[in-house]
Amino acid sequence: MSKRPETIVLHTGHRADPTTGSVVPPIHQTTSYQFNSTEHAANLFALKEFGNVYTRIMNPTTAVLEERIAALEGGVAALATSSGQAAEFFAIQNICHAGDNFVTSTDLYGGTWTLFANTMKTMGIEARFVDPSDPENFRRATDARTRCYFAETLANPKLNAFPIAEVAKIGRELGVPLIVDNTAAPIICRPFDHGAAVVVHSTTKYIGGHGTSVGGIIIDGGNFDWEKHAERFPMLNEPDPSYHGAIWTQAVKPLGPIAYIIKARVTLLRDLGSAMSPFNAFMFLQGLETLPLRMKAHCENAALVAAHLSKHPSVKRIIFAGMHSDAEQKRRAAVYLKGGYGGLVGFELKDGMDAGRRFIDSLKMIYHVANIGDARTLAIHPASTTHSQLSAAEQARTGVTDGYVRLSVGIEHIDDIIADLDQALERSAVPLKRAS
Ligand SMILES: *Cc1c(COP(=O)(O)O)cnc(C)c1O
Repeated sequence: MSKRPETIVLHTGHRADPTTGSVVPPIHQTTSYQFNSTEHAANLFALKEFGNVYTRIMNPTTAVLEERIAALEGGVAALATSSGQAAEFFAIQNICHAGDNFVTSTDLYGGTWTLFANTMKTMGIEARFVDPSDPENFRRATDARTRCYFAETLANPKLNAFPIAEVAKIGRELGVPLIVDNTAAPIICRPFDHGAAVVVHSTTKYIGGHGTSVGGIIIDGGNFDWEKHAERFPMLNEPDPSYHGAIWTQAVKPLGPIAYIIKARVTLLRDLGSAMSPFNAFMFLQGLETLPLRMKAHCENAALVAAHLSKHPSVKRIIFAGMHSDAEQKRRAAVYLKGGYGGLVGFELKDGMDAGRRFIDSLKMIYHVANIGDARTLAIHPASTTHSQLSAAEQARTGVTDGYVRLSVGIEHIDDIIADLDQALERSAVPLKRAS
């Protein structure tokens, strides 16, 4: 089987359903599965054999999605979850317990920030936020209780590519795995190729691609030596009382380097229950089939939109991974993003808050929503919405200014996208005197 993305998304993990011949993976809308015998049932529960038990823990439709996305990212196995937030929480909770800490980039999706800074704190897990412009900040924040590093490939609003290889290398020296949220850059970045140990996605965004379903996934790179760093990972190297004393690095060894992802499935998903519904798995499989095509179109349109806006008199500044003026950011974008710079474009209006609001209110085709990765073009004005609770200083630290607008550029015809942007920009200009 070819390993190229365009083929993986159509063929990996399923070939003609054995009972019906169905070409498309069927939606297995069932909670449970008949055991062949008491011995079979006992083997499944003891992990001596792999098979379906109950849809909270695994499902055949979801399994195809997991296998396909694992292959796409170049990992060994994956675990789908009910949302991207659940995927991120599980990815960390799997190896980070009360009293432990992890080091995270400050450039984060808002929901991830609140999960790390507030909810995980109440569980006794400390998130140490560091500036990713200097990778050494990760080393400086590491101690004996640091269990992982966390970052996004291409975090908005700054849209800087994260230095994956640099931070992964520091982590491997110290025995700390890097978890990368690759939601904004599927296809164009493969974090495992640069040394990441675990990848997470909100499948809600580009993978689903049509704004229909919320979901997430964790992919195990199978490339981190949990046994070598046994003192840092007792949860994978000591008997687990929640699973009749299983030692995860030993229990599933014959099946490959999948200790991390198996533990997440059979303990966290079992206990916390944030499973993806089979119907949503089907929707994500459908989206996945055109992901390579769509990413190409998103990247092409975004580059054209960025070039057009950069020449517009109402626009003060463009924030786009393909247009950084800073030499190091330019280098990182070239190293980590291949075949395009993603579909996200930020820009700053000269006339600030009022112009930002007017621009959004004047859009006709482009949707005003808090989402990214839809086939449709989407826009949001963070200062009056997602970031309105932050102080001006906090907004500035996150990269949001009064006139900042974020676009998730879709796959419509470029002329129609630009026409809508242009007419809204014209109306956004603040008149010298208000009419009323
Ligand atoms: C949307 C998003 C999430 C959260 O995913 P949900 O599916 O909405 O729970 C996490 N990280 C990034 C980068 C996102 O864009």
